[in-house]
Amino acid sequence: MSTKLIACHECDAMHYQESIPIGAKALCRHCGYLLYRHVPGSIDIALALYLTALILFIIANVFPFLALELGGREVHNILLSGGLAMYDMGMGELGLLIFLTSIIFPATVILGMLYLLLFVRAGVFPPMAGPVYRLVNGLMPWSLLGVFMLGTLISIVKLQDLANVIFGPAIIAFAVLIFVYTFARSRFHPAELWNLSPVKSPEIHLQEDAFCLNCHTCGYLSQDISLHKCPRCTSPIHHRKTNSIEKTWALLAAATILILPANLYPVMTVIRFGQGEPSTILGGVMKLIQANMWGLAMIVFIASIVVPIMKLLILIFLLISVQKKSKWRPRDRTQLYRITEVVGAWSMVDIYLVGILSALVSLGSMSTIEPGIGAVYFAAVVVITMFAAQSFDPRLIWDNVRIKQIE
Ligand SMILES: [Zn+2]
Ligand SMILES: [Zn+2]
Repeated sequence: MSTKLIACHECDAMHYQESIPIGAKALCRHCGYLLYRHVPGSIDIALALYLTALILFIIANVFPFLALELGGREVHNILLSGGLAMYDMGMGELGLLIFLTSIIFPATVILGMLYLLLFVRAGVFPPMAGPVYRLVNGLMPWSLLGVFMLGTLISIVKLQDLANVIFGPAIIAFAVLIFVYTFARSRFHPAELWNLSPVKSPEIHLQEDAFCLNCHTCGYLSQDISLHKCPRCTSPIHHRKTNSIEKTWALLAAATILILPANLYPVMTVIRFGQGEPSTILGGVMKLIQANMWGLAMIVFIASIVVPIMKLLILIFLLISVQKKSKWRPRDRTQLYRITEVVGAWSMVDIYLVGILSALVSLGSMSTIEPGIGAVYFAAVVVITMFAAQSFDPRLIWDNVRIKQIE
């Protein structure tokens, strides 16, 4: 049979790949996951966009980002400054987190994609395609350009009554970069890469309850139970993520414990004319409300308090439902899972905010902002819950609902 079989990444349902109209998307019939789309010339478009992203990225890192002016004194700031300020103030781990998620990871994604796309465009299967694609794919959820921008915007608004904020060329390049980067990601269809590989999936015999392994990196299908490594992309291959439920529970327990110090200890201390007032996350929200900045207060409250707690509750609910072998609304539960994956990273906004403010507001005796230990706990909560969402295997939701069906 020549028709190509593909397995959905999120629920494992098998589908025959059909040709679809230009611009159309093929979604999984069960869980609604995007299986593939038809974008003519997608490789050229993706390549052009990633090249543009690289140029914008360089501009964003080389030129001044923001400057703060108060009483004739100016503090200049480049993109790197937030992380460096944290490091200087003895919070190296936070500095590293900011540095990795706002600079190193996005740079690796852009360079890795350019490497793959240049080969694909030439019609050649790239050497080390598996490890490179796996790296790029693994770092994408941790490349938080948009969240960093939101943190920057909030700090600008917060600083407005303190001093004069001057925009640098880098911030404009950075804003455009976010759009180009997001668009580039949506243009690339991984099948165009894997179709170039000489290794093809073996013929699959579809019967009721037939066992089939699906490589999460490249979509290679096999019915060979003894297979541990994908022959096409060398990724480890499992029927389900190993010990998904236990790992997710352990991470959730750790995050739940850390949420307490994250909210009880100050995340930053604002020192004005020698007078310091430490503030917690909730304290920061209250201050924004007192300053009549309701919109900002809402954003910080939702990102820093509502989202982490909601994420923990959703993941706990999903784990219990899977362990109880629930058949209740699998599609809605998968949707809930996707929400936790997407919104989780936005909680990082508070960490960026603290980093940017610490870097900018160092006006000696007049005004200084220092990060507090609560920020470290809070960052740990965000990172651990992101790992928890990644360690949960959404296919477990579907395992209790149906035996393998082919559409
Ligand atoms: Zn699906
Ligand atoms: Zn593979």
